[in-house]
Amino acid sequence: MKINKHKTCRMCNSENLTIALDLGDHPLVNSLIQEAQLNLVDPVYPIKIYRCDDCSLVQIKDVVDAEEIYKNVDYLYFSSDMPGLSQYFGDYAQELKDSLIKKGDFVVEVGCNDGVMLEHFKKDYKILGVDPSTNVVIRALKNGLPVLPLFFSSRLAKQIKKEWGAANLIVANNCIAHLDDLRDLMDGIAGLIDEKGVFVLECNYWGGMVKNTNYSLIYHDHYSYFSLEAWVNFAPTYGLQVFDALVSPAQGGSLRVFLSKDQRPMSPRAKKLLEEEGITQLNTMQMSLNYAENVKNRAKEIKDLIQAIKKSGKSIAGYGAAAKGMTILKCSGIGKNEIDYFVDDSPAKQGWYTPSDHIPIISRKDAEKKLPDYFFILAPNYSDVIIQKEAEYIKNGGKFILAKEVVSVFPQ
Ligand SMILES: [Zn+2]
Repeated sequence: MKINKHKTCRMCNSENLTIALDLGDHPLVNSLIQEAQLNLVDPVYPIKIYRCDDCSLVQIKDVVDAEEIYKNVDYLYFSSDMPGLSQYFGDYAQELKDSLIKKGDFVVEVGCNDGVMLEHFKKDYKILGVDPSTNVVIRALKNGLPVLPLFFSSRLAKQIKKEWGAANLIVANNCIAHLDDLRDLMDGIAGLIDEKGVFVLECNYWGGMVKNTNYSLIYHDHYSYFSLEAWVNFAPTYGLQVFDALVSPAQGGSLRVFLSKDQRPMSPRAKKLLEEEGITQLNTMQMSLNYAENVKNRAKEIKDLIQAIKKSGKSIAGYGAAAKGMTILKCSGIGKNEIDYFVDDSPAKQGWYTPSDHIPIISRKDAEKKLPDYFFILAPNYSDVIIQKEAEYIKNGGKFILAKEVVSVFPQ
């Protein structure tokens, strides 16, 4: 795989980057393995987190070429397969329709996946999606959504504007952390958006990661970890400004930022969030170092719990073969000796194996024949949904291991 090495900050181009956290070597979490490849050794790449001394953006410097991740590997994450996401994006789209645009407006979604949000603009709006993962685009096209199977870039933005006109609303959800060239993204957005248009993005939130010691979001596909302050400082270079922001429940706490070209007063909730970041010293180097320490302690806590369970002769399986869980396992040194198999509801993942440890992924139905004493929930965002639908398993003595805000066993 090709590694793109960077010497400068992804936002402000400064060379003053200081290492905050070294997580060691990890396989590519989204590269699941087929049976025929099990005899191969999967490559691992280091994950090191840096903080920019100048603009405070937390980021990975050396990244695996995105082309490798999205084009050459079947990207197995279909948003529409995820429980609750259609409802979430339906409500989110409705809020934007009610407050920011009018019928007939042109809506562009960057990184639209299989169209889980774009679908909600299909009626009454002119729409266009852009996503580099061929297989999710095929799904979107099948559902009648116009999606370009390409990476969004300033060059593509110009071509879109030429053919379709300026966009009244551009949306980008859960894809900006995957973009290596944030400055080109912003060039593209600024060029494509109408003078009175709005750009709404949703990305991981560094504030939530620090608060909850959440490191499940750290993997090779996620290049940057964002605070609101970083966006507020970054946007003006491109003639854009932040006028609203909130923390949404998506992905266990995402940052939603609203940007415009025209001057708008900053909303009270955005001001409040910005103030909170200041009070908690979120964007300082010291906070990055505190976070690093907390991550190491959490990883050890998980390892100790898993080892104690194994020592008592009990079996453990993983629940949810999501990318997010893989970093958690790897940081605690947990692998095939501890986890017998994974269950995953996404049919696209069943029959595959996890990278590096080659743990099989099966359906929940197939797990029925060999239920473990403990399920380790590795799709932390869905733990409530999972526990709710596993009443029968719990009744029969089954337990869950949870690693959310704290490490715990349910029922105790
Ligand atoms: Zn910077």
